Amino acid sequence: MNNKEIIQEIYEKIKSIDDEGELASYIPELANVDPENFGVHISTINQNNFGIGNCYDKFSIQSIAKVLSLCMAYRILDKKIWERVGVEPSGTAFNSLVQLEADNGIPRNPFINAGAIVISDILISNLENPKEDFLNFVRSISNNSEINYSDKIAKSEKKVGFRNIALCNFIKSFGNIQNEPSDVLDFYFDLCSLEMNCKELSDLFLFLANHGSSMIDNHMILTKSQSKRINALMQTCGFYDESGEFSFKVGLPGKSGVGGGIIAIHPNQYAIAVWSPRLNKKGNSYKGMRFLEEFTTESQLSIF
Ligand code: GLU
Repeated sequence: MNNKEIIQEIYEKIKSIDDEGELASYIPELANVDPENFGVHISTINQNNFGIGNCYDKFSIQSIAKVLSLCMAYRILDKKIWERVGVEPSGTAFNSLVQLEADNGIPRNPFINAGAIVISDILISNLENPKEDFLNFVRSISNNSEINYSDKIAKSEKKVGFRNIALCNFIKSFGNIQNEPSDVLDFYFDLCSLEMNCKELSDLFLFLANHGSSMIDNHMILTKSQSKRINALMQTCGFYDESGEFSFKVGLPGKSGVGGGIIAIHPNQYAIAVWSPRLNKKGNSYKGMRFLEEFTTESQLSIF
């Protein structure tokens, strides 16, 4: 069977299973999404692209955007970035405060909220118009001007983002936030509100399967070494405290978001995006995880 047939078969199977997950209602606007949405899109290096289900419906990519903000900050600071944020899996929830005290305000990795807030601070210090410049960076990677923030989602999160406000202030008390916490948080909530569909997402992330170079005009978005390290971080830290489980079951670098999206990368081969909004207890898409586990098993395409 080819990828298309495998995806079709697994899609139908996973679509019909009982979804044990729940919508992320802590951001009120995310609870308004139809939980039955289920889309998949694969974009491959050799242009064998295929999508199914709700793969053209936009959704809130939430934490998946943290990979893109990290890429942008990495381009600016290169290795110096690791003075501000670590590269270890946290083993704690995405919004946890507990390790920061012992770690003197240096977040374990850039994909937990604490780490992404520090990356937001770096971007604010280095960009003239952070909100606009970041959006342009994201659009330029995939040459797609349709990508945008959702003001509705950002506003909804700004009203209830008390843990993130606490995180930002706590990190500032250690000196690892240089700007005003309110500015850092504003930017952080905006970047989490980016919306894309599965096709846009898998097209955009394909550069990480292509050693950091654009699939459109081959320009270098990241160096090979930087691209390797971003993939390594997605492998070890992309799924909160379920990162080991994802690695074990799926065997690919990836990143999830509480909007129910998952992006996974097979270096040299493809990027695949799955969206199903109901989340398991660790905050990852229930059906998305199940789908990808079956996909890499059936296709026998994983990096291991
Ligand atoms: N904006 C979300 C938050 O900060 C992102 C969480 C996620 O997708 O993991 O809570």
